[in-house]
Amino acid sequence: MTSKLQARGELLTALRLSRELTQVQLAFDVGISQAALSKVESGEARLDLETWRKVADKLMVPLSAFRAAESSTAPARIFHRKQRSTPKSAVNKVAAELSLVRLRVRDLVGDQTTSLRRHDLDGGYNTPQEVARDVRDELGLGRAPLGDLVAILEEAGVVVLRWPLESIQVDAIASWQDDTVPVILIGDHVPADRQRFTMAHELGHAVMHETEADKEQEAEADAFAAEFLAPESEIAKEWPSDASLDALLLLKRRWGISLSALIRRGKDIGRLTEQEYRQWNIHLSTTGMHRREPDPTERENPTALTTAIRKYLAEGASVEELASTAHMYPREFEQTFLQETS
Ligand SMILES: [Zn+2]
Repeated sequence: MTSKLQARGELLTALRLSRELTQVQLAFDVGISQAALSKVESGEARLDLETWRKVADKLMVPLSAFRAAESSTAPARIFHRKQRSTPKSAVNKVAAELSLVRLRVRDLVGDQTTSLRRHDLDGGYNTPQEVARDVRDELGLGRAPLGDLVAILEEAGVVVLRWPLESIQVDAIASWQDDTVPVILIGDHVPADRQRFTMAHELGHAVMHETEADKEQEAEADAFAAEFLAPESEIAKEWPSDASLDALLLLKRRWGISLSALIRRGKDIGRLTEQEYRQWNIHLSTTGMHRREPDPTERENPTALTTAIRKYLAEGASVEELASTAHMYPREFEQTFLQETS
């Protein structure tokens, strides 16, 4: 159990990181020592009300945010493809934002439940492909092509938001902390064609993995995603005897899987030889189809949170009230939760 003091400290840390401030900077701005701030963040010391006001001001949240701190907002364990060039501070900022999202969503719409469960790969009892089929079964999806994947995940209790992730050069991040629901942030720079595979990849991390992903876990999440989107048993049946572009585009539309993921699938299930796979890749890149695929997939947008919030508004709640429930100022609240998606 986290104490109130600890919870407040964790929230303070998460907010500070999300604003890209160091302890030294924040301490200086509110007129205390870095050592004192460090103790407050670890839940070992208190601040007087006047200093809390300054802190809240500096972090651009209402003072009430700190009164509300109850449960852990410890920076989330997140899954993302590590990029050598991405500064640690940028990753910490996004991890902190993700924790804040969890706290805010909980306080806005209440405790949620998920119909997903965790699957352990340790011990090699399960392959990622088996887990993918199990998750399909748990969600009642059978083996058929999947409709709107974002909607499927939201239905399963996953919190999905579009988020600016280009700065840390990752397509998406996922976190599933203990007894909460999984959260997936999708980069708002990710092309629609790649988004479904990215979402499925993150879902794979969330259900299969405990810690930040290494190379092997990245491969597992990819294997999960491929089987989840397009189960081998079905794709093998439908694979065209003459794999022309038109025939593959038909499969792309039917299964909602990009051409480049599809030819990879063809290779992995033995329908394309290594050489045919290479030729396809060369073809896609020389024709520019790697960047802009024909028959682009329609963008899938998260709607569950916005719908819930709009319902509250229709029932007479004000943006100010809802923002305060989410421990935010109205402007940031609107930007975060009510922005129109394109
Ligand atoms: Zn990954």
